[in-house]
Amino acid sequence: MAIQKNSSFRNLDSKGALYLVPTPIGNLKDMSPRAVETLKQVNLIAAEDTRNTQKLLNYFDIKTKQISFHKFNTKERIPELIQKLNNGQDIAQVSDAGTPSISDPGHELVESCIKNEIRVIAIPGPSASITALIASGILPQPFIFYGFLPRKKSEQINELEKLNGQEYTQVYYEAPHRLKKTLENMVTVFGEKRKVVLCRELTKRYEEYIRGNLQEALEWSTNEDVRGEFVIVVQGNEKCENEIQDVQCKLTIKEQVQRLIDQQGIKPNAAIKIVAKNNNLKKQEVYNEFHGLR
Ligand code: SAM
Repeated sequence: MAIQKNSSFRNLDSKGALYLVPTPIGNLKDMSPRAVETLKQVNLIAAEDTRNTQKLLNYFDIKTKQISFHKFNTKERIPELIQKLNNGQDIAQVSDAGTPSISDPGHELVESCIKNEIRVIAIPGPSASITALIASGILPQPFIFYGFLPRKKSEQINELEKLNGQEYTQVYYEAPHRLKKTLENMVTVFGEKRKVVLCRELTKRYEEYIRGNLQEALEWSTNEDVRGEFVIVVQGNEKCENEIQDVQCKLTIKEQVQRLIDQQGIKPNAAIKIVAKNNNLKKQEVYNEFHGLR
């Protein structure tokens, strides 16, 4: 067991501390006074994109030096940052927007600081995930934060199938040009009727919440010129009888397929595929059983 005490008195040990500093996700007024003060006081800011962060620093009149720290140089940078921290320098880590480590660089640096007994101090602040969740109107807890799904269709479907029985609210990040495809896959796996909220351009001028079911959201994304940043909040699987329980409850194969079609609006072939997977059967066997072909 290891206990980290974050005394508010600085320089208690000879090592510096790592400060995790969230930055606005669109509205500069969301930068907290403590975040500004921390960025002013540290010796160095490790930033995902120094040019982008420089604009923020200029706005708040922060003169601290920066060093780049992003997913492509994480491995090389960490030893260098750890050395500086060991030598007594305080370092703040920031990403381009929102909270570091949340679908952004940071986690490996935190791990490394913990290993090296360097204090890690998180400053609370903006994150698109929590902002979307609390305004979505979908039950805010329990929830799981997923972040970005895999891009490749087969991998994404696979991941969604694992999540389909999940009763907790789910929070996803998605890029605008992939939104439609992701919603298509969600309809295929979760069915048409699951509640969803597309939370767009949070804290910005064109902030929008698009509320409905998955089929309606898919239609919206098909008809619109989809732009901006999105968080997708999906309701958990509300039914007590989810697919995992279907097997445990000993529903027949035919009943399992029928339930997915009736209660979740899933198309017959997709339902057959899910039931085959859950029961370790071949699709053809489930097809035959469902259609009474044997
Ligand atoms: N670390 C950030 C955080 O704490 O929210 C997330 C960074 S991740 C690279 C960027 C993704 O977050 C976007 O693709 C989008 O899904 C989501 N996002 C960031 N800002 C947003 C905003 N203003 N409105 C909606 N979604 C946003």
